Amino acid sequence: MKYLTEYRNLEATKSYLKLIETTITKKWNIMEICGGQTHGLVKNGILELLPDKVQMIHGPGCPVCVTPLNLIDKAIELLENGVIVCSFGDMIRVPGSKKSLLEAKANGGDLRILYSPIEAVKIARNNPDKEVVFFAVGFETTAPANALSVLHAQKEGLKNYSILVSHVLVPPAMEAILDDKFCTINAFLGAGHVCAIMGYKEYYPLAEKYKIPIVITGFEPLDLVQGIYMAVKQLEEGIHTVENQYSRAVKEEGNLAALKVINQVFEVGNREWRGIGEIPNSGYVLTPEFKNFDAELKFGISNIKVPENPDCIAGQILRGIKKPYQCSQFGKTCNPSNPLGAPMVSSEGACAAYYHFSNNAILK
Ligand code: SF4
Repeated sequence: MKYLTEYRNLEATKSYLKLIETTITKKWNIMEICGGQTHGLVKNGILELLPDKVQMIHGPGCPVCVTPLNLIDKAIELLENGVIVCSFGDMIRVPGSKKSLLEAKANGGDLRILYSPIEAVKIARNNPDKEVVFFAVGFETTAPANALSVLHAQKEGLKNYSILVSHVLVPPAMEAILDDKFCTINAFLGAGHVCAIMGYKEYYPLAEKYKIPIVITGFEPLDLVQGIYMAVKQLEEGIHTVENQYSRAVKEEGNLAALKVINQVFEVGNREWRGIGEIPNSGYVLTPEFKNFDAELKFGISNIKVPENPDCIAGQILRGIKKPYQCSQFGKTCNPSNPLGAPMVSSEGACAAYYHFSNNAILK
């Protein structure tokens, strides 16, 4: 398959691993932002093939993992009060404070698992006597489709459709990580799919302010080792700039049509990140024009607050301070059948990646 098979080529991947080995002279810590990249690194055994001088640190780029516990409880509250709640499949097993959405569904809640928020608009149209809420979770990548669903509902005059918004943005999270006193990161692999929407102009000031290389990188084995090589090369040469490894999908200016839709419906606001806390201007909220599509306001559930599970160190893992196997619950009380935290559930979660794909060589 074009743009896929050739990026899984073993010989080309090995040649970049060799280049990394011959270029590197010092220890460097490189954070891959996206959970999809973490899975690519672990699943393909790349962590074991990299020279010891490269330490990959897993970043916060798993949308399910960073969605606060209280948002899940809010969705469950709606479900238990007769609202049709629609969600992508990856959210439904994530534990809330008492139960998951799936458990609430088993108790009779009308939970619909969808591939697109546009399907939720159709459900609202077909059920005029019911309230329908889409659980709008994600980074910049899912924001255009969620915004589009609101525009469709507005155009159709649907009064029974709203969204429970938990959109977070990558650059403010990178800045919060870099400002952390425990931060040891020397370079970033930027999330290719996020930049396919947003472009990467906003990374230049970050690279300059923190003197840190940022390489926008894809998800296949060759993408990852090439991205790591580009970051190592910058570090060894004392350069800190933004480079685009994922040029087959990412343009500097991003996807202008998608950005237009996002900017019509959302504006930047403060957001709470699970395990990290509130980061100023780190997410999207609905603009005043679209506040009547805000499920939190519509159903008066803004004040639901719940504490995190004290046994789960997801916050430290999402900030790159600890690896999953350093959690005392990893593989014991916490596993994919009985997850204590979102990183063990999500297909992009670091704990799930290590549980499914790592071997003893990585657990060092
Ligand atoms: S292993 Fe489980 S308990 Fe530990 S950080 Fe990961 S999700 Fe949380």
